[in-house]
Amino acid sequence: MSNNSFERAELLNIVTRVKALVKAQKEIADKGDLMLNLSYKRPNKRINKKGQQALTKSSSSVKRPTLKDLHKKVLNCRKCALHKSRTNIVFGEGNKKAKLLFIGEAPGFEEDKQGLPFVGRAGQLLTKIIDSIGFKREDVYIANILKCRPPQNRNPLPKEVKTCTPYLIKQIELIKPEVICALGTFAAQTILATTEPITKLRGRFHIWRDIKVMPTYHPAYLLRNSSGKRPVWEDMKKIRQTLHF
Ligand code: URA
Repeated sequence: MSNNSFERAELLNIVTRVKALVKAQKEIADKGDLMLNLSYKRPNKRINKKGQQALTKSSSSVKRPTLKDLHKKVLNCRKCALHKSRTNIVFGEGNKKAKLLFIGEAPGFEEDKQGLPFVGRAGQLLTKIIDSIGFKREDVYIANILKCRPPQNRNPLPKEVKTCTPYLIKQIELIKPEVICALGTFAAQTILATTEPITKLRGRFHIWRDIKVMPTYHPAYLLRNSSGKRPVWEDMKKIRQTLHF
């Protein structure tokens, strides 16, 4: 084979592989939407007499799913056994356009009672941590891996994490934060799809789908181990720096 034909064959090979990759990624994205039954139809367009494109009456009312739509969907979720013991779904709260998103593990007793994330003792500490880098709680968004409380605050089961994570992923896609702070082992390992311990993961940014992810210790851990506060402060300063404060 001549050099030229070899390069052409190589190029063709690369193009074929890239096309297959794009197709596979599109299939995964479509499947994610289907799992949540949140796929939206692109508005039909028709050409009017003057040749201009106009939206048909029926399609102009079709809109992209919002965080509110997702919230409504989660409120009816019965995909795992946790729905039987929950008092409330804890969807998440905060600024829908937050630059900074915090992800915890799962609701505890207080959160289950109130339907809001991080409102117990660990939550009060999280509020202080958020304040310490110049944000207010309402500036950021706070969510959890699981939307329902595991009984007796036991660790989330792998199948519960697997069932619930698509909701969180959809939240992230809708909020589009610049930085995610993953609080504790479960949040960090789930979002980064790794089994590395939090001690190894924290302290530096990881990239997940173009978003910077800073794993750090969970506030509940800090309530029991005050020696963790200094490293958390170091991690928070990195987040503050990245968000140009
Ligand atoms: N711990 C969490 O991980 N999430 C909460 O919402 C509360 C405590």
